[in-house]
Amino acid sequence: MKILVTGGAGYIGSHAVYALIEQGHEVAVVDNLVTGHRQDVHPKAKFFHGDIGNYRFMRDVLTTVLPDGVIHFAAYSLVGESMANPFKYYENNVGATNSMLKAMSDAGISNIVFSSTAATYGDVLEMPITEAAPTNPTNAYGETKLAMERMMDWNRVAHGLNYVSLRYFNVAGAHPSGAIGEKHDPETHLIPLILEVAAGKREYISVFGDDYPTPDGTCIRDYIHVMDLAEAHILAMKYLLDGNPSTTCNLGNGEGFSVLEAIEAARLVTGKPIPIKISPRRAGDPARLIASSERAQSLLGWIPKQPQINDILKSAWKIQKF
Ligand code: UDP
Repeated sequence: MKILVTGGAGYIGSHAVYALIEQGHEVAVVDNLVTGHRQDVHPKAKFFHGDIGNYRFMRDVLTTVLPDGVIHFAAYSLVGESMANPFKYYENNVGATNSMLKAMSDAGISNIVFSSTAATYGDVLEMPITEAAPTNPTNAYGETKLAMERMMDWNRVAHGLNYVSLRYFNVAGAHPSGAIGEKHDPETHLIPLILEVAAGKREYISVFGDDYPTPDGTCIRDYIHVMDLAEAHILAMKYLLDGNPSTTCNLGNGEGFSVLEAIEAARLVTGKPIPIKISPRRAGDPARLIASSERAQSLLGWIPKQPQINDILKSAWKIQKF
């Protein structure tokens, strides 16, 4: 396949690019390097520095590369920031994707695999969450991703766009080579922060709220290995290129870990004490998010190879130590 990856210098995008190239596919990357890292783009990928919201730039890239499809990661993705600055999220996520879809349509590119999120669901009572669950995001980030999904569906109706939206739960871990990993600046995600404490780079991990309606009072999340996630994107693109209809799939392991359980697992994996500090709740956090990934398994043939949180922590720890 010949694939254009937007956001291919970011955390998840760079891992998907590595997986695509390792499987012999041809890859071009578009990234504005606002949050991504140029050195994380696989050396065999063709790199275009620019913004997906720049219509002329994107149309030129698309008509030059003529990919079989686009895997679209480029977006802002921080819940807390989206609550403080929704303008930024609507402009960069919704506005820029609208412009990019127009460029795709004008360039005659009709297949897209989209990086969506469990945050599209909000607080759901029934676990595990299936794709039939109602979508009521509790934060602006999730709201923008849901709007992007809906936008793709209207363009399916109007322009024959074929899409797979992949709603990820909590992603962590790194490429087995250690060449790339999770490096947000500033880091806000739980697993890398816990491991930074273990590595002695931070004094303690703040636990955001211990009064949620969960057994230990801390939020429960479903953690998935970034390489399993990368594989799901490749399978989703093959699914579209085989002529299958547009769909939305959850990606998770179907098992939930509380913040305190994740910290305890990290203590065992690293052998370090990892002090904690109970802090106020973070705005916009649902109490529990656990995926049913049955649809991804049956439609895409996706089987996570590293579903254990210990393996995810071990692979992230390998990067953190150096
Ligand atoms: N969290 C925490 N302390 C931190 C960072 C995150 O307690 O320093 C919690 C957060 O409230 C959420 C879970 O860990 O319940 C996972 O958060 P993360 O930001 O990693 O992913 P999200 O669920 O927002 O996608």
